[in-house]
Amino acid sequence: MKESNTPRCPICKRPVDFAQSPYRPFCSKRCKMIDLGSWFKEDYRIMGEDLDSEVVYNPASNQDREG
Ligand SMILES: [Zn+2]
Repeated sequence: MKESNTPRCPICKRPVDFAQSPYRPFCSKRCKMIDLGSWFKEDYRIMGEDLDSEVVYNPASNQDREG
């Protein structure tokens, strides 16, 4: 079995062309950022932040009725 010497991205395990990729040893900027652990932390912080702060105002329930 012949073994290829192609370097692989440590994140997604795809072959990386070191001559072409500016993000080596990663295949892309995305994989580089994943390795740094920064982009998805930012993503998760933005998601789901405003869900609990929504207050439903219901004026009908505060009505004074005489009768
Ligand atoms: Zn990759």
